[in-house]
Amino acid sequence: MSAALSLDTLRSQAAGLNFRNQAFIGGRYVDAADGRTFDCISPVDGRVLTQIARCGKEDVDRAVRAARAAFEDGHWSGLAPAQRKRTMLRFAEAIEAHATELALLETLDMGKPIGDSTRIDVPATVNVIRWYAEAIDKVYDEVAPTAPNVVAMIRREPMGVVAAIVPWNFPMIMAAWKIGPALATGNSLIVKPAEQSSLTAIRLAELALEAGIPEGVFQVVPGFGPEAGEALGRHMDVDAIAFTGSGEVGKLLLRMSGESNMKRVGLECGGKTPHIVLADTHDLDAAATAAAWGIFFNQGEVCNAGSRLLVERSIKDRLLERVVEVGRKMRFGDPLDPQTQMGAIVDQDQLEKVLSYIGIGSEEGAKLLLGGRRARAESGGFYIEPTIFDGVENRMRIAQEEIFGPVLSVLTFEDLDEAVKIGNDTIYGLAAAIWTSDINKAMHASKKLRAGSVWVNCFDGGDITTPFGGYKQSGFGRDKSLHALDKYSELKTIWIELH
Ligand code: NAD
Repeated sequence: MSAALSLDTLRSQAAGLNFRNQAFIGGRYVDAADGRTFDCISPVDGRVLTQIARCGKEDVDRAVRAARAAFEDGHWSGLAPAQRKRTMLRFAEAIEAHATELALLETLDMGKPIGDSTRIDVPATVNVIRWYAEAIDKVYDEVAPTAPNVVAMIRREPMGVVAAIVPWNFPMIMAAWKIGPALATGNSLIVKPAEQSSLTAIRLAELALEAGIPEGVFQVVPGFGPEAGEALGRHMDVDAIAFTGSGEVGKLLLRMSGESNMKRVGLECGGKTPHIVLADTHDLDAAATAAAWGIFFNQGEVCNAGSRLLVERSIKDRLLERVVEVGRKMRFGDPLDPQTQMGAIVDQDQLEKVLSYIGIGSEEGAKLLLGGRRARAESGGFYIEPTIFDGVENRMRIAQEEIFGPVLSVLTFEDLDEAVKIGNDTIYGLAAAIWTSDINKAMHASKKLRAGSVWVNCFDGGDITTPFGGYKQSGFGRDKSLHALDKYSELKTIWIELH
């Protein structure tokens, strides 16, 4: 839809949006208990869109009480899976019916191109909810192979009250990756969106209620990490935290769990994905295009962004020329323009962080091949040019630390073993990619790369049927696919002896 709409039409629709800006607790919108709010600033032009409820401990207590009460009354948790399925399918339809509104909210709130919000974020969110709805009445419990006088059932049960703490780079999709399996398995849920991007989560809660998800089953507590987030992390009556975000906060949540009620913690954290291109690659143009899009898509604000391009020395110049060309032609600018391919950086802090890494790269001795500067400052928004550094050594900070912006580090290697060694030489292990025409090399590298996803002759492939998550400090637990159901359920053994 919006792809066909003009910039003017989108601007006027955006101007007419009604921003929901309160917490959603017990089936209704409420202000924070102490009445505090925070500014919701659009990175598109630096404008304050609205003031959002700034939830704290008291609000989290209220949300947990509502979630627990809903869990205990069984109007959701006690339903047959097929009944939950029907309601969740209606929820997916409601999201689809509000696609333009949600796409606009996402773009205004976090700066991604409207074409992406429309063609990727909203449809992926609908698909996730629909897929888990469809899946849940096809998952069977087990009967264990015990002695004949015993019936041992292994049942999957909901955990209870689940809190999802999510980041700002794909606000709706990251939330949906938790909402889908958590609700399908019968839990009550509290979503804590990132303070940079609360609007779509707040709206989703209302759509869920309208679709028939009972009050108290789905709450949203917007606010800051150290306030609303920590209150959830330390809460004695939250059974599980499903987190996507930085490793630093992931580690804090593990500590909070240990210091409170030992709640289950699932962590989806950062990455420093190696994008490896061997000299025997059959299609250098395709590899170059993937390398550029692998870092510039979503302004580089992607956990699995291909931030390290590892290229075999003999083809480096040829490949790099093409990557720079794709980067140079990238249409970056106003996120509301349907033609835009790269939009705004989420906020001023992130803008400064990325610019500071660009400075560090130059100081470390890497060679700036493209970009490197703030752009469109006159708009009031936060924009950075697509940026490429050549001559990067893997020990440099720009090769080791997650920048989370449109900054590509190019490294070279001599042979496959060295490529794998450099690829693995990071604290992260979220994803890796390799381009080669040799299936043996592809398989050898895929097995050796310590990453949750390895892409061969492509980048960022996958769908809802495949698990996503990391090795090492990229976290543990998996989102997507049937495996994600494990994060939101307990296994119970019922052992019956027959007489
Ligand atoms: P972040 O860790 O700063 O924030 C994530 C969430 O945690 C936000 O909701 C934030 O408010 C909350 N938070 C912050 N401090 C907290 C605290 N003390 N206690 C409890 N909650 C707290 O991350 P971000 O900047 O929003 O997102 C970027 C990060 O997310 C990157 O590291 C990126 O790689 C990661 N990410 C990972 C995946 C994945 O699937 N592995 C996907 C997307 C993003």
